[in-house]
Amino acid sequence: MATTTANSSMLGTSGATFAPLTVPKRLLLGPGPSNSHPSVLNALSQQPVGHLDPFYIQLMAEVQGLLRDVWQTSNRLTLPMSGTGSAAMEATIANVVEPGDTFLVAIKGYFGNRLADMASRYKANVQTIDKKWGEAFSLQELEEAIIKYKPAFLALVHAETSTGVCQPMEGIGDLCRKHNCLLILDTVTSLGSIPLYLDDWKVDLAYSCSQKGLSCPPGLGPFTMNERAEEKLNKRTGKVPNWYLDVSLLNKYWGSDRVYHHTAPVNMNFGIREALRLILEEGLEATWTRHKLNALELWNGLEDLGLSLHVPSDIRLPTLTTVSIPSNVDGKAFSLHLLNNHGVEIGGGLGELAGKVWRIGLMGYNSNKTNVDKILNLFDSELP
Ligand code: PLP
Repeated sequence: MATTTANSSMLGTSGATFAPLTVPKRLLLGPGPSNSHPSVLNALSQQPVGHLDPFYIQLMAEVQGLLRDVWQTSNRLTLPMSGTGSAAMEATIANVVEPGDTFLVAIKGYFGNRLADMASRYKANVQTIDKKWGEAFSLQELEEAIIKYKPAFLALVHAETSTGVCQPMEGIGDLCRKHNCLLILDTVTSLGSIPLYLDDWKVDLAYSCSQKGLSCPPGLGPFTMNERAEEKLNKRTGKVPNWYLDVSLLNKYWGSDRVYHHTAPVNMNFGIREALRLILEEGLEATWTRHKLNALELWNGLEDLGLSLHVPSDIRLPTLTTVSIPSNVDGKAFSLHLLNNHGVEIGGGLGELAGKVWRIGLMGYNSNKTNVDKILNLFDSELP
C-alpha cells in the first residue's frame, strides 16, 4: 500500500519538488490587471461562506447596488458574471442575439474584433465598420453605418485598451433609439476610472472586468442590461444558447428566488464589494479626476522626454496610454528590462500596433503620483 510522508516540500508526479508559493512583487503599469488594493486583498483572504448563506445573500445585493452606482444605472439586471471580462462580453451577446440578427460592430482596435468574432459564433449577421487603430468614430460615421445595415445591435468599445482611444459617447444612444437598435458598450477599461453614465448615454447592455479600474484580481465580469434589452431576451424564440451565462437562469439566484445556479466565487465577490465600496468612499467624480490628473502628468512627462503619444489628446484614454516606440529602441527588450530589473510591468502593442507602441496603464489603485514619477524616472534613466 502506498504511503505519504509529510514533508516540507511536495513531490509531484513529474518528480519535481515544490516549495510553498511565493509570488514576485510587481508594479502592474500595463493594460491590466492592475495591482489590487490592500483592503481588497484583505477581503479576498477571508474564509469563504456558503453561497446561500444569509450573509452572502445580503452581500450579493450590496454588490449589485454598488455596481449600479459606479456604472450610473438603475438597471435591475446588474450582476457580476463569474468569469473575466470576456465572459461578461459573451453574456451580452448570448442573451440577446438570435441567429440572423444584424450585429454591427464599430471596430477601432483588438477588442472590437473579439466582439465580432463572438457574435458570429452566435450566428448573428455580423457587419463591421473599421477605423484606423488610434482613432475614434464620429457620430456621422456611425449613423451612416446604421442606416446602411439597419442592425438590431450596435456594439462599441468605450475604452479601447489596444489603442488607448476613448470613444466619445455623446449622441450615440439617441441614434440607436432613433433607428431602433440596441447599444452594447464594452466598459472593461473605463468602469471605475473615467466618466461613465450608462443610463444618460442610453446604453442598453454593458460589461466590464474586475481587474482594471476596480483594483481587484481578474475573475469577475460585471454585466448589466436595461428593460429594452430584457424585452429582447424575453421575446427570444429559443433558449439562450449558453447555459452558464443565461441571465434568466442567473437571475433566479441573484433575484428574489435565490435558487442555486452555480457555486458562486464567493471570495471574488467579497473582493469586488470592497473594491466598489472604496470607489464610492473616494467619490466617483473624485476617482475620475484623479485618473485624469495622473494621466495628464504622465502624458506631459513622456512628451518632455521627447516621446510621442499615439493618440490625439482629445480622445486619449486616461487609463491606458500608448507611447510610440522610438526607432532606435527594441520595445520588447525594454519592457522585459523594466520587468526583470525593476519589477515594473508595461504592455506591448497588440495586433496592428504590435512592435509599434508600449502601453502604460494607470488604473484604479495604481493611478497615483508615485507611480507616475516612478515610470517617468525609469523611462528617463533606462531608455538608450
Ligand atoms: N474588452 C477590453 C476593452 C479589454 O481590454 C479586455 C481585456 O483586457 C477585454 C474586453 C477582455 O477581458 P478579459 O481579459 O478580462 O477577459
